[in-house]
Amino acid sequence: MQITNVTCPTSKYSTKCPYEMTPQGICVHNTANDASAMSEVSYMIGNNNKVSFHVAIDNERVVTGIPFNRNTWHCGDGGSGKGNRTQISIEICYSKSGGERFDEAENLATCYIAYLLKQYGWGIEKVTKHQDYNGKYCPHRTLDYGWERFLNKIREQLGLQAQPVEEKDYSGGSDEEVRKYVNGSTIENIYADTSLTKKIGYLNPREECDCFGIFNNRPMVRYIVTGTSNYKIGFAKWLGGVK
Ligand SMILES: [Zn+2]
Repeated sequence: MQITNVTCPTSKYSTKCPYEMTPQGICVHNTANDASAMSEVSYMIGNNNKVSFHVAIDNERVVTGIPFNRNTWHCGDGGSGKGNRTQISIEICYSKSGGERFDEAENLATCYIAYLLKQYGWGIEKVTKHQDYNGKYCPHRTLDYGWERFLNKIREQLGLQAQPVEEKDYSGGSDEEVRKYVNGSTIENIYADTSLTKKIGYLNPREECDCFGIFNNRPMVRYIVTGTSNYKIGFAKWLGGVK
């Protein structure tokens, strides 16, 4: 594992990491961007925004930018928030477009997180997500693919037993934020099941509807049946429509 330490100049501490910190856990993010780890860190250190993180990881390397004994501004829970004041913040790169680069970056992140857990003598419960602190849907792509799945990859590194991947509850009252689905330029078939065996309808080109989450890699959408005022819920195939 290649770890590159980029040092934030102490003259920037008052903006980027004003408080001393004793790390109490790890908070995982996705960058929602397509820049490399080195670019993310140099941009973060270079600007004067009150936004910062400790580590960025891409498909090739781990890059640290802020020492772990200082706080970072990464999860929107305020100046005395648990996230901002106690967590080692880790950004996984290439989450905007995803694909192989992101999958590899996520894998490298699980190796690095396992390494940190061992170093600090922490259990898997110390691995948290941005969403836990202020509700933001971050790390977005890691969540789309499944959080327990991500934790299982870390467990595997630690020689721990994998836990069952959660079956999400479809029956109303979900706390997952409703998102938008915007169809592309072709008709998108909608199916009753995530294995796409039973077609129940379709979305017109550019049609917009609600998306309740992604299950087994299929966006679950609720749309109005053309020519009626009736709603139907089913699964689309194209992930790119999820906004
Ligand atoms: Zn985040």
